[in-house]
Amino acid sequence: MPAFSANRPAVSQSWEACQNAVVDLVIIGGGIAGLTTAREAARAGMQVTVVDPTPTHGASYAAAGMIAPLTEYHIGDARLVPLLVEAARVWPDYARRIAGESGLPSGYVDHGTVVVGHDADDKAELLRHLPAQRELGFDPEVLTTREVRDREPALGPTISVGIAAPADHAVHNREFLAALMRANELAGVRFVHESAQVSARPHVVECESQELRADHIVVAAGVDTVHQGALEAAVRAAIRPVKGQILRLQADRRTSTVPTLTVRALVRGKSVYIVPRPSGEVVVGATVEERQFDVGATAAGVFELLRDARAIMPSVDEWAFTESWAGMRPTTHDHLPIVGASSRTDVHYATGHGRNGILLGPLTGLSMAQYLTTGTMPAPMAAASPLRFLGEAA
Ligand SMILES: Cc1cc2nc3c(=O)[nH]c(=O)nc-3n(C[C@H](O)[C@H](O)[C@H](O)COP(=O)(O)OP(=O)(O)OC[C@H]3O[C@@H](n4cnc5c(N)ncnc54)[C@H](O)[C@@H]3O)c2cc1C
Repeated sequence: MPAFSANRPAVSQSWEACQNAVVDLVIIGGGIAGLTTAREAARAGMQVTVVDPTPTHGASYAAAGMIAPLTEYHIGDARLVPLLVEAARVWPDYARRIAGESGLPSGYVDHGTVVVGHDADDKAELLRHLPAQRELGFDPEVLTTREVRDREPALGPTISVGIAAPADHAVHNREFLAALMRANELAGVRFVHESAQVSARPHVVECESQELRADHIVVAAGVDTVHQGALEAAVRAAIRPVKGQILRLQADRRTSTVPTLTVRALVRGKSVYIVPRPSGEVVVGATVEERQFDVGATAAGVFELLRDARAIMPSVDEWAFTESWAGMRPTTHDHLPIVGASSRTDVHYATGHGRNGILLGPLTGLSMAQYLTTGTMPAPMAAASPLRFLGEAA
């Protein structure tokens, strides 16, 4: 159980002046999971160090930034729904606070989402999910093709159905990460730009040039959590990388029709999404590839994404192509993240967020800080306990 106390004994404080001080918390990994945990723990009074050779440049950088509990709900993932819904609820306030603290834009936009089908089979498939979505408390609104084009004029004529999801929002994830980094620095979080391993010795993190000692260690290393050899094999085996290729384009409002809503589409059975930023940048994603630790962008990935995006939005052809990128989603067998206790009292996890790690980011940090300071993981994050892989009651 976590044992942080804001009233640390004086003996610890004298240690803290030394290079090898014992801090309250060392976090391995400076993606959205590590940085939200760091910020919340620091605000709760903990002394926090984040170790990462390239903070903010993992999957969190690759992502499209959709904050989309309804359109990310997939049949079979019902246990994930309360997490997704609560995570979306805390986002607007969290974004406001990070912007206020950092003085930087949060990147959060509440422009809503429409889901469209391309042909009759795509329509049937999308409509098939509606009863389950409604049973779970969502309120998808079925639109005629005319209605959906009225809402999003950038859509082309070959649309078979539209479904509105106005509460599914988005964030410019790279802007948000920059603001979150700044908020962490201002909250006194220390950064060590090295890679690190949890040691087999309790309370020790082995970095490239030094050892760090901490009351608590949080592993937030995304897919690379599997490479932490001192951690439980069963938890590491539960995580796998799922590659996603994603494109960025730049639209010019003077010469082409630019979308204002996030558009998610099923095109001949394949998913594609188009996420507009206020600046005219448009993100098109993403492939879903079961590949081991491969972040190479391929011609096939680029081709398929552009082919499917332009099938529903012809103006894609007119936009400047600025980037192809790939990242790895830290995916678990049961689609729930891995957040909370390990079998060691000094080590905890904040990883396994799969395709929803941006959506789940603020809730992960808020939940982790509460768990580290009180010993209790709040609902609904308690459902993500790592102990489910260790044959122990969560
Ligand atoms: C193409 C794509 C699109 C996506 N779109 C969305 C979306 O629209 N909405 C959404 O909610 N989610 C989306 N996701 C998922 C989301 O990006 C991830 O779930 C989330 O970013 C995971 O965050 P993280 O902090 O766990 O991992 P990461 O962001 O990968 O951060 C892990 C960090 O750990 C560091 N690290 C690793 N090993 C070590 C070590 N040994 N020592 C020190 N540091 C280490 C890495 O350098 C990295 O910075 C998408 C993912 C991809 C790939």
